[in-house]
Amino acid sequence: RDSLDIEIRVMPYSDDQFLLVARDVTQLKQLENMRRDFVANVSHELKTPLTVLQGYLEMLGDVENTPPAMTQKALTQMQQQSDRMKNLVDQLLQLSRMETPSHDVFEHVVDVPTVLGELRQEAEKLSADKQLKLVFDVEPIRVYGKSDLLRSAMQNLVTNAVRYTQAGGNIRVTWRKVRDEVEFSVEDNGPGIENEHIPRLTERFYRVDADRNSDSGGTGLGLSIVKQALEHHNSHLEVNSKPGAGSRFWFRLPAGLIEERLGKAKSQKR
Ligand code: ADP
Repeated sequence: RDSLDIEIRVMPYSDDQFLLVARDVTQLKQLENMRRDFVANVSHELKTPLTVLQGYLEMLGDVENTPPAMTQKALTQMQQQSDRMKNLVDQLLQLSRMETPSHDVFEHVVDVPTVLGELRQEAEKLSADKQLKLVFDVEPIRVYGKSDLLRSAMQNLVTNAVRYTQAGGNIRVTWRKVRDEVEFSVEDNGPGIENEHIPRLTERFYRVDADRNSDSGGTGLGLSIVKQALEHHNSHLEVNSKPGAGSRFWFRLPAGLIEERLGKAKSQKR
């Protein structure tokens, strides 16, 4: 390690002897710093929309001097900012719920093709203005898992692709068997991500370019939710990205999570 944080205590041992106790508190200090950063980030993320809301409220309070057109603009902005705060609070709650380890992950069957059908509709709505070309290539594979967690992992990856890919771009979502495992992948030809950022993408509140993304509607929590959701399924997120060319985010679920019945039905069809 580069440096250590050591806590030293001197304790009485006998009349003329002392005990020197040294404790390595490096990890404890790191946790403390993470917690402090987290609180600072949450406060900052909530404060920005709140300040905008307060500004508009003040303006609307001056009823006589606010033209109707401004009132309408203020209401639209206030709606957007409160949506942003709600989204942030929802994601924070989701992260905190996921911190509790779950043992029943294998007990529920998740109908991923149905989930992806719903996500496709959402993505089409979200991307309507940008005229993105969306392709969903989905094999009829169901898995054992936690439905809400898998859904939100997939949703965050699809939403990011839609959010960051420029107008006219292409997005390809696949759910398919790869050898024994099943793979979910979202590929786009958006801006791509520099290599140096890749290891930090799943950190809470990490954004590649804070200025560029401040209007994106993102919170910086999406990929940390994906990471935690996948940990519940013994899986992890993989990223391939080339600046200027696009990104591919994907994960695989182990063979043991594939529901046998549908897997068999599919192999019989072939
Ligand atoms: P956000 O809510 O800001 O999207 P995420 O945790 O989901 O936060 O993603 C972290 C950062 O990774 C984003 O702010 C963005 O800079 C980058 N990113 C994520 N997905 C993509 C993508 N498909 N293409 C380009 N950049 C991406």
